Amino acid sequence: MINSEIEAEIRRMFAENYELMRIEGGHSLSADVKETALNQVIHYWRKMKDVAENVTDTEVKLNLPELTTSQGRKYGIEGVVDIIREEDKTVMYDIKTHDSDYVRANTAEYEKQLNVYAHIWQGLRGQELDQTAIIATSYPKAIANALKENNERRLAKELESWNPLIDIPFKQENVEETIREFGEVVEAIESREFKPPSVDKLKSSLPGKKYTFAVQVCRNCDARFSCSAYRNYIRSSAAKSDSMLKRFLNDFGSDLEREDWRFSNLAVTPSPEDEDTVGEVSSPM
Ligand code: SF4
Repeated sequence: MINSEIEAEIRRMFAENYELMRIEGGHSLSADVKETALNQVIHYWRKMKDVAENVTDTEVKLNLPELTTSQGRKYGIEGVVDIIREEDKTVMYDIKTHDSDYVRANTAEYEKQLNVYAHIWQGLRGQELDQTAIIATSYPKAIANALKENNERRLAKELESWNPLIDIPFKQENVEETIREFGEVVEAIESREFKPPSVDKLKSSLPGKKYTFAVQVCRNCDARFSCSAYRNYIRSSAAKSDSMLKRFLNDFGSDLEREDWRFSNLAVTPSPEDEDTVGEVSSPM
C-alpha cells in the first residue's frame, strides 16, 4: 500500500470505529472534536510509520497469573504490548495515550509497569529483550496550537521536534517490588478503601506540567463533585477567592465539553417533523 492509500484506510477505519463506539456508548462528538481526534491519529501515523511498519507482533497479551496479595487474595497481572523483532534485536513497546513531555517527566511511573511486562516476556516466554520503550500518542500542545492556527510552517517545525518514543530502562531488581505494589492496590480495592489523596497533593504541581494535580487531573474526573478532597480543595482555595467557589458551583465542564455536548445532542435530536412521523408510526391507532 502506498502512503495515501494507508491514510485513506486510516480515515475509513476511524469513521467505522467512531460509528461503532457512538452506537455502543451512546455518545456523539461534534465535528470539531472528531476532526481533532482524526488529526491526532494521522499525525501519529506519519511520525511513527517506521516503527509501525516494522511491528512483528501486535497487541501481544501478557499474563502473570496466580499472584497472592499480603492478605492472601489471588490476583493476576495482564498487559498488552507490541513487539518488533529485527535480525538480532527485539524491542517491546507499550502504547500510551499520554503526552510525551509528561511521560518523560514521570518515567519512574511507566518504568514499573513496563518492567513487569518485560519480566513476563523474558521469564515466562524465555525470550530476550534488547530494549523497552513507551510510545506516547498524544501530541504536544505546541502541535495542537499550530493546527488551530492553521500555521503550516509552525506545524512542520513542531512535528519535526516531536519525539513520541521514550526509552524505558529495564531494571529486573525493581520487578518484585512493583508486583508487591500491584498487590497492595488489589488489596485496597477489594477492601473498599478508596480514600482520595490529601488536599496538599491536589495543590501540588505535577512533574513535567505547569498545572497542579487538581487542575490537570481532578478537573477531568467525573467523581469530583462527590470527592471530599476536591471539595476541601475548593473550600480552602475559595477562602482566598470568592470566584473559586462560584466556579465550582457553576462547573458544568469546560467550554469545549459543553459545546460538544450541545452540538452532538443537537445532531441526534429529532426535528419536529421527525417527531410527528415517529408519533404517527408508533401510534397503535
Ligand atoms: S476529584 Fe477525582 S482525581 Fe481528584 S482526588 Fe477526587 S477522586 Fe481523585
